[in-house]
Amino acid sequence: MAVMTDVSTTGAALRSPASPPAVAVKELDAEKLRFIEEMTSNVDAVQERVLAEILGRNAETEYLAKCGLAGATDRSTFRARVPMATYEDLQPYIRRIADGDRSPILSGHPVSEFLTSSGTSAGERKLMPTIEDELDRRQLLYSLQMPVMNLYVSGLDKGKALHFLFVKSETRTPGGLPARPVLTSYYKSDHFKNRPFDAYNNYTSPTATILCADAFQSMYAQMVCGLCQRLDVLRVGAVFASGLLRAIRFLQINWEQLAADIEAGVLTARVTDLSVREAVAGILRPDPELAELIRAECSKGDWTGIITRIWPNTKYLDVIVTGAMAQYIPTLKYYSGGLPMACTMYASSECYFGLNLRPMCDPSEVSYTIMPNMGYFEFLPVDAAASGGDASQLVDLASVEAGREYELVITTYAGLNRYRVGDVLRVTGFHNAAPEFRFVRRKNVLLSIESDKTDEAELQRAVERASALLRPHGAAVVEYTSQAYTKSIPGHYVIYWELLTQGPVAGGVAVDKDTLDSCCLEMEEALNTVYRQSRVADGSIGPLEIRVVRPGTFEELMDYAISRGASINQYKVPRCVTFPPIIELLDSRVVSSHFSPALPHWMPGQRSD
Ligand code: AMP
Repeated sequence: MAVMTDVSTTGAALRSPASPPAVAVKELDAEKLRFIEEMTSNVDAVQERVLAEILGRNAETEYLAKCGLAGATDRSTFRARVPMATYEDLQPYIRRIADGDRSPILSGHPVSEFLTSSGTSAGERKLMPTIEDELDRRQLLYSLQMPVMNLYVSGLDKGKALHFLFVKSETRTPGGLPARPVLTSYYKSDHFKNRPFDAYNNYTSPTATILCADAFQSMYAQMVCGLCQRLDVLRVGAVFASGLLRAIRFLQINWEQLAADIEAGVLTARVTDLSVREAVAGILRPDPELAELIRAECSKGDWTGIITRIWPNTKYLDVIVTGAMAQYIPTLKYYSGGLPMACTMYASSECYFGLNLRPMCDPSEVSYTIMPNMGYFEFLPVDAAASGGDASQLVDLASVEAGREYELVITTYAGLNRYRVGDVLRVTGFHNAAPEFRFVRRKNVLLSIESDKTDEAELQRAVERASALLRPHGAAVVEYTSQAYTKSIPGHYVIYWELLTQGPVAGGVAVDKDTLDSCCLEMEEALNTVYRQSRVADGSIGPLEIRVVRPGTFEELMDYAISRGASINQYKVPRCVTFPPIIELLDSRVVSSHFSPALPHWMPGQRSD
């Protein structure tokens, strides 16, 4: 896709002369682009104003009073008095709010709900307090996406977006506040439900299909609607790459039923939600020709380029493929026949951060520009973070240096103060005065298939718990490593085990198959709630697999690493492997492989503390 103009000019010059959109849209776009220019040109002044506003609103809070801020709203007092905080530091405050204490603890504005992050603490989702007007800020950031995209791709108002959007189950805290993922909160808000018609954000999915909490019914209905409007579809997407791949997998499994429904013009009885049925009825018509096309394309057994075969007018995939999602790029290329992938936004439950101002760039080049109006942002250099880090080492948004890596630390309107998000970002350049950041990694994440984030300690605990099942068999795990296996959809965790067994055993396996299968499930039971929810409720992670490798394999692994320059003294077994030759080596030594025979336990609703 040719870039129509460079975004690094001023708002007025951003307009593409090649395809002038309608006048009203043009004006609205120009206004949004001017806003981006203004924000990114005055980063430091905006940040100073945002901090003063946040501290002014939250001046009476227990937290800031404890910090000794005494109502001050200036940067220097803030810097001197407010420490950096982790979730664990804030948990006692958060627990009180969750339990129903309505006094101004963290925020001067009432906490309207909790957003359940995919980041976990002690195995449970983190609960992020939020306030009503955060929705306005989120909506503002969303509203900037298409004006930027229109600079690069023309005619997006002439068709629709097949965007697979989902809500998840929600619960209430003991004090009665809703606790749900940020996107669920957004889609259920009036901001989304009652949004005015926007030709640039015209989805093929009726709102009722998005708001249906049943994952199967929601996906089925969205897929039917996307198929029926296939020629209108100009972009195909989901929030994350894993979500889009799940949709493709869904099509692989359900195309026969989908084609039958389209042929008859009648929705399967498996979709029982009345509001969904009603919404789909407005779109689904008997269309034997379309049904035939779906059958012809899906029965070939060859799924290369299926997205463009079914939705031939798709210009790009609208999907995040940065961070942990980068592992899905080759698979998405395969299914889309190499369509461009646009990563438009960088956001979290704690705060929405910013935009990619060059959304059609190659995934490896994606950088996000943090918008200084969204919150107050500071940066801890990673070398300082490695040695614990303290608040005196924090750098302002306007003062970060190109080429350096930082951990993101935020202060939000909702009352997080100097909170360590856990994301590591590298400064790649500047848009006006605003730094652009490449997402480097999430701290301490070893394995991730979709929103799950498993760290080394969690994996270690899971291995320990499962290996207890080996003890009665006189066996133990001597070494292990892991891999996020994403060649199949859904992906799954693969854990390589080298066992020590008593007495000489051919092949090194003295433990029976059933026990090793049970070890897989035992490991899953030990993993965090996000992992288990993905397995049980969403089906977005497949059964965990243990691959037993023959004795001596991990020594070979060490020899290989040393042959490539690792120091013998400092060599440590990697707890996760991604380098293809290492994976090949491990796979060539596998003596048996085992899958989790059942789903682990997971209940909707979590401990809300
Ligand atoms: P959650 O708290 O569940 O909303 O997850 C937010 C986290 O998802 C962020 O802190 C990042 O680690 C990750 N994330 C969000 N947007 C992106 C993106 N565009 N690229 C890479 N990682 C992202």
